[in-house]
Amino acid sequence: MKSIVTEYTEICIFCGRKAEGEHHLIFGTAGRELAEKDGLKVPICNDCHNIGEVKCRIHDNPMAEKLSKMLGQAIYEAKIGTREEFRMRYGKSYL
Ligand SMILES: [Zn+2]
Ligand SMILES: [Zn+2]
Repeated sequence: MKSIVTEYTEICIFCGRKAEGEHHLIFGTAGRELAEKDGLKVPICNDCHNIGEVKCRIHDNPMAEKLSKMLGQAIYEAKIGTREEFRMRYGKSYL
């Protein structure tokens, strides 16, 4: 797994249990593919991702999903490019 967010790709970034999948910090129609290319993703267990209780998982929790995208953009701006470049690439700014 290519992540520019963490080097600990076997461990769920949210709870520390074994990661079973990966979460793309920016997701949705075009976002997921770009986040894949940019390495904007984190290791995650299934409970924290999308099968746990809604209030405890990242998907279907609107505020958590928003924060995920904001974090993705913040890391993009810290490690890859400018806000304008992010806006051009992802089609909008979350910050
Ligand atoms: Zn977890
Ligand atoms: Zn996800």
